[in-house]
Amino acid sequence: MLESTMMDVPLTIPTILDRMKLLFSGSKVISYLPVGIDPETKQPIPGRFEETYGQLSDRAHQLMHALTDAGVKSGTRVATFATNHYRHLELYYAIPSVGAVAHMVNIRLPDEQIVYIINHAGDEVLFVDNVFLPRLPAILAQCPTLKHVIVMGAVPQLPSGMTDFETFIAGKPTQFTYPEIDERQAAGMCYTSGTTGHPKGVVYSHRAYVLHSLVSASSEMMAVTERDTVLPIVPMFHVSAWGYPFTCPFVGANLVLTSVLTAPAFIARVLQDEGVTHTAGVPTIWFGLLEELDRAKAAGSPYKLQKLRSLLVGGSAAPRSLIEGYGERHGLRVAHAWGMTETTPLGTLNNLKPEHDALEPAARYDVMALTGRPAMLVQLKLVDEHDGLLPHDGRTPGRLLVRGPWVTGSYYDNPEATAASQQNGWFDTGDIATINTDGYMMIQDRAKDLIKSGGEWISSVDLENTLMGHPKLKEAAVIAIAHPKWDERPLGVLVVRDGFEVTKPELDTFLLERGFAKWQLPDAYEFVAEIPKTTVGKFLKRALRDQFKDYKLETSVTLE
Ligand code: AMP
Repeated sequence: MLESTMMDVPLTIPTILDRMKLLFSGSKVISYLPVGIDPETKQPIPGRFEETYGQLSDRAHQLMHALTDAGVKSGTRVATFATNHYRHLELYYAIPSVGAVAHMVNIRLPDEQIVYIINHAGDEVLFVDNVFLPRLPAILAQCPTLKHVIVMGAVPQLPSGMTDFETFIAGKPTQFTYPEIDERQAAGMCYTSGTTGHPKGVVYSHRAYVLHSLVSASSEMMAVTERDTVLPIVPMFHVSAWGYPFTCPFVGANLVLTSVLTAPAFIARVLQDEGVTHTAGVPTIWFGLLEELDRAKAAGSPYKLQKLRSLLVGGSAAPRSLIEGYGERHGLRVAHAWGMTETTPLGTLNNLKPEHDALEPAARYDVMALTGRPAMLVQLKLVDEHDGLLPHDGRTPGRLLVRGPWVTGSYYDNPEATAASQQNGWFDTGDIATINTDGYMMIQDRAKDLIKSGGEWISSVDLENTLMGHPKLKEAAVIAIAHPKWDERPLGVLVVRDGFEVTKPELDTFLLERGFAKWQLPDAYEFVAEIPKTTVGKFLKRALRDQFKDYKLETSVTLE
């Protein structure tokens, strides 16, 4: 081997911080935080806070001094229990820049899981939003490793033993000398959500975050630059807000953060007033926003969203009807993406090939509904139950395996889960997917959600995506029900739009017209007020399966 002559410069978070200060100190972080409750509507009143990247950098440096003065050192786990706002962003930079690890705790988990993950991670310091203080006593009593609690936001009376964030950093110098940081050391960690059993920990390295940001910002992916204003609606406690807190400052794009304020009318106004160019969230958010945009348009006062060039949707399947709805009715582009906590999360993103421009709209939306092509440096493959390679022909479904520099090679301190998910240098996603000849992947299902009927597989995601395009339906989930003859059969669980009724024959016709075979149609439908969701807004199929575990299907089909 011949040694190269290149420098070995580590890829670390301070590199992003220094660049943001040097080149983009005027770019902004705009935070909307609840500052009270409207007595009439009982809704939170938003307050708007503006910080430049220059100020953010100074405060992050002050925070680094405060952290080290409090005993935080290389490898210390520092938990955040917080929503999306500038102080949380300052922590995103300060914690890894002193060599410590930011553990972003999912605030929507039940208390016993929060206690589990804080103890499993061995967190020593906790930064908490003022609004979550009432939850703390139950948690703190069971977390012996926590030594300091720092409260973000004003409180009438600070609980004893806790420190106020502004007091914590007050008077500290705005210049901190970073310790030597190895690009492979831990910078952040998140635990998976919505799974059975205990959440599993994923630890992100500096190198993974930096490479992920470079590729996310690239023109082939999100194409984010200094000219952009980006609103990630995905929470900062869910897969590091999909990396936007690192991607945007790296290129100087303004960031808009909206804490717990995600009501569709509020989001629509922020998109308009802040001139947002790119935004990202889970399908539930975009369903709500689409209704609000439709309503405003029908009322003759549409929102002015001319600057908005893309809405990234991921986290669960985005139905074609959603993508088409934005495109046809509002001229807005929805970009479908796939990823996981275990993949930092950017795995695939749907951008069109030049030849797709010539397609008729219907055919173009067919392509846009696919889950996209792999990001640079990410590899995908499909395997069968014997780990044999399957073809990328757009038809053959298989277990999706992924590999790349920001894909986890293990779970934190969890050898069983690690062994179950790693396969000769590839990570088994637990998703079932197809990949077409152009390289576009399509998630068909979680392996455990596929419906096995008479030896054939039925994709619940496919049925759900199509049903959600029915004008009378608001939400649709499809689960497997045990069947004496066919092993399993699909049951549709539906939320009907206000003022409508829908029948099975009507839905059968709708599905048959859209290419489903008769044996793939749900045997029955149940109507509910709401589909239960995970802490990050995905359908909670496990809860539905529990709810309908004794369900007896009255009808049956002939598999022909
Ligand atoms: P999480 O770790 O909570 O982000 O969950 C990751 C899982 O969400 C993946 O393994 C998929 O099952 C699902 N998921 C993410 N994006 C998509 C998508 N675009 N379409 C379908 N499923 C998705």
